[in-house]
Amino acid sequence: MIPDKRAVLLALGLVASAHLALPAIWGGGALAQQGGTEVTCANASARVIGATAREADSACAAAAKAVAHFAACGLAPRRPVVVTVVPPDAVICEENIYGRFDLKDQSIRVVSSKGCPRTEPAASPYATLSRAELFSSSVVHEVAHDLLWQSLAGRPVSQGAQEYVAHAVEIGALAPETRARFLAGQPTTEVHNLLAFGTNMLTMAPDKFAVLAWAHYSQPRNGCNMLRGIVTGEVHFPVPNE
Ligand SMILES: [Zn+2]
Repeated sequence: MIPDKRAVLLALGLVASAHLALPAIWGGGALAQQGGTEVTCANASARVIGATAREADSACAAAAKAVAHFAACGLAPRRPVVVTVVPPDAVICEENIYGRFDLKDQSIRVVSSKGCPRTEPAASPYATLSRAELFSSSVVHEVAHDLLWQSLAGRPVSQGAQEYVAHAVEIGALAPETRARFLAGQPTTEVHNLLAFGTNMLTMAPDKFAVLAWAHYSQPRNGCNMLRGIVTGEVHFPVPNE
């Protein structure tokens, strides 16, 4: 499992790389938390662990956005989402990790809104987000991973498909003015071959992957059709040499 990163690597996620991650970083059973408080969100089937009151509000609102997006496409959660907020320790900051969805125990971990020193290149769309926006955005991204996983009910899909969904839902959840700022100056060419959304672009040009995923997903004919198609298997993201 590779954590979602930004700046150097924005967003790797799930199945294909399940054993390549950095397991020590997140500490297994000894996961550090900020006090261990647990909040049940009023507006989503979600719980938030280890957050400050402000972070819990933000995480609940972010989880609700992702849940609402899936629900609008006819995909209801099968179990509550659990988001654990972890402090930005030195290793996490060095690795530029922002969040992670772990398939082993379906856990979501997101780095505290205190965050790490910002290292995004000025040209990165993520450099346009405040720390609070980045925190909220990371929660949306990881919850989208979890909801997709729940919807797939064990059917494997490519890492590219998973990250396509997580990024599209994440960018779609930004406030319109924030999204306009985020996308300003970014590539908007629509990708027609889903082969492009593979691990190559994800690792070599993660920001480009994110904005092109949104550019594709936000087309009127895509959106829920893509999301439901990925879940049912009608939409297939090929991988090279397939
Ligand atoms: Zn991801």
